[in-house]
Amino acid sequence: MQIHSDYSLLRHNTFGIDVKCRQFVEYNDENELRKTLKMLKENTEAPWLHIGGGSNLLFTKDYPGTILHSGIYGKEIIEESDESVLLRVGAAEDWDKLVEWCVEKGLHGLENLSLIPGEAGASAVQNIGAYGVEVESLIEKVETLKVETGEARIFLHDECEYGYRTSVFKQQHKGKFIVTHVQYRLSKQFFPQISYGALKDLSEKNDMPPTAAEVRNKVIRIRREKLPDPAEIGSAGSFFMNPVISESQFQALQSQNPDIPHYPAKGGIKVPAGWLIEQCGWKGKQLGQAGVHPRQALVLINLGHATGAEIAQLSRKIQEDVAERFNITLHPEVLFL
Ligand SMILES: Cc1cc2nc3c(=O)[nH]c(=O)nc-3n(C[C@H](O)[C@H](O)[C@H](O)COP(=O)(O)OP(=O)(O)OC[C@H]3O[C@@H](n4cnc5c(N)ncnc54)[C@H](O)[C@@H]3O)c2cc1C
Repeated sequence: MQIHSDYSLLRHNTFGIDVKCRQFVEYNDENELRKTLKMLKENTEAPWLHIGGGSNLLFTKDYPGTILHSGIYGKEIIEESDESVLLRVGAAEDWDKLVEWCVEKGLHGLENLSLIPGEAGASAVQNIGAYGVEVESLIEKVETLKVETGEARIFLHDECEYGYRTSVFKQQHKGKFIVTHVQYRLSKQFFPQISYGALKDLSEKNDMPPTAAEVRNKVIRIRREKLPDPAEIGSAGSFFMNPVISESQFQALQSQNPDIPHYPAKGGIKVPAGWLIEQCGWKGKQLGQAGVHPRQALVLINLGHATGAEIAQLSRKIQEDVAERFNITLHPEVLFL
């Protein structure tokens, strides 16, 4: 187990915010995690937070407590049939390396989720999604430890209550369970999912269906064109969630803005937050060292030495402008700390 005091989180958040936490603990297995939880329970005053790769976090100040990070690695096939495998993955495994490994081994389903930053544990918390696939469609079980007691508990897929970028671990069980392993059901046969936007031309250009490697490479190419590489420009990907508005509100909006993009969604009509932000004139603009990406208005960026407070301030201004012009509240996807 590694324990550091007064520790810099610069390497642990993709926004590249230079803050410190009072204590940083990386455990290597469930027993070390239990010991850590016991220690945290004894010191009830200081807050704690479990992070993964820090790609969905915005630190607005030094963190006044303990940051926990998993050191549980490993990939193991625990069930196999002619059609599929059940792959058990340690929470600390890098997400994109996992996708690459699965494509190489002929284990299919994750290709569309290529190049999403972060770790396997968080994939099950966040219900990551891209190009028409959400990871929940592949998750069979999530192994956790209960924070209060240190007991192991396995959540079956349906108990995870997955929704758009959310799960039970972000809602009623927030802060109550730590994910140690995720079990993914992956197919031995490849069924390309390429009906989504930019992936469509993979089927139109070729007579043969694409291979899993071709889909992965295409996703990587599109993402590199559209999104900043966190190694070069700090960001947390999509900063806001795409709002879902009522049919009547949408119709009123559409009469003023005939070309507004929209998609049917559970509970109403989904409108791309990036479009709303762009219409308010924010694309490519900056406020101090915080900016809006010139190619994707949904992505807020660190132009070099932004503080988390500067990025938070920019996000508030954007929310105000979108609310004033469209009467729509944008909710951050990113966790503010
Ligand atoms: C350039 C860029 C592009 C992105 N593109 C996408 C995209 O296409 N689709 C998408 O869905 N997301 C995208 N994201 C967002 C982000 O990558 C995902 O939300 C990712 O799952 C976060 O993983 P992480 O390991 O960095 O988690 P963190 O950001 O560290 O944490 C996220 C949440 O998970 C919790 N958590 C982390 N690990 C555990 C654990 N073991 N147990 C319990 N709770 C835990 C944290 O407390 C926090 O609430 C993008 C981000 C960036 C920077």
